[in-house]
Amino acid sequence: MSKTIPGILDILEAQGAIITDGHVVLTSGKHSAGYINLRKLAGRRDAMTDVGEIISQNIHKHTNAGSKDILLVGPETMGRNLAQEVAHINGNDYVWCEPNSDKTAMQWSQKLDFEEVIKGRRCIILDDVLTTAQSLLQTINLIRSSGGEVEGAVVIIRRNVEISAGVLGIPWLESLQDIGIPAYNAEKCPLCAEKKPMWLHPGHGYEWIKDHPDYPTK
Ligand SMILES: [Zn+2]
Repeated sequence: MSKTIPGILDILEAQGAIITDGHVVLTSGKHSAGYINLRKLAGRRDAMTDVGEIISQNIHKHTNAGSKDILLVGPETMGRNLAQEVAHINGNDYVWCEPNSDKTAMQWSQKLDFEEVIKGRRCIILDDVLTTAQSLLQTINLIRSSGGEVEGAVVIIRRNVEISAGVLGIPWLESLQDIGIPAYNAEKCPLCAEKKPMWLHPGHGYEWIKDHPDYPTK
C-alpha cells in the first residue's frame, strides 16, 4: 500500500522551513519576502521521511536507487541528515563531509575512515540548498580525489537556475524546487515602502526593529 506524499513546498511550509510571502531581514541585512531554512526539517520524522521518498524518486529517474554500489554523500549537517534518510529507505551506504577550518575545501570527518569507503563507488550527493555551488563543487572534488565517481546530485532547493549539471561538470542534477526570491537593500525595499509588517522571527527583524520602533510587526 502506498501513501500519498505531499508536495515538497507543502512539506517545507508546514515545517516553517520556507516562507515566500513574508517580510524578513536576511543575515546580509537585505530585506526579502522569502526565507529558507531547511534545518527546520532536522529531526522531524514524518517530514524527513517524505522528503527522503521524494529524493528517492528523483534518483530513480536516473538509476536504480537501491543499487548496492551507490554511495550517498551528504555535505554538512543537512546533507548528512538527507543521506541518512535516503539510505534507510533504499538500503545504501552513506558518508558525510564537512568544510575544513578555512572553508576552502571539504574533508571527510577526521575521526572516520570514509576515504576507504569511497574508492570505486558511484556517488550521489544530497544537499539542502544550492545557492553558489561552492559546497557542491568542493564535495565533487573531494569524492574524485578519493577515487570515487560522481554519478549525480539532488538538492531540495535551487536558488539559482543557472547552476546546472553542466556547470558542475557532473552527469545529472535534480532540484526538487527552484526558487528565486529577490533580496533588496534595506533603504530601497519595496516591502518597506508598502509598510508590509516586518517579521521579527525568523531572520533578523528583531534587531532591525530596534532602529524602527514605529514600524508595524508580525
Ligand atoms: Zn523591507
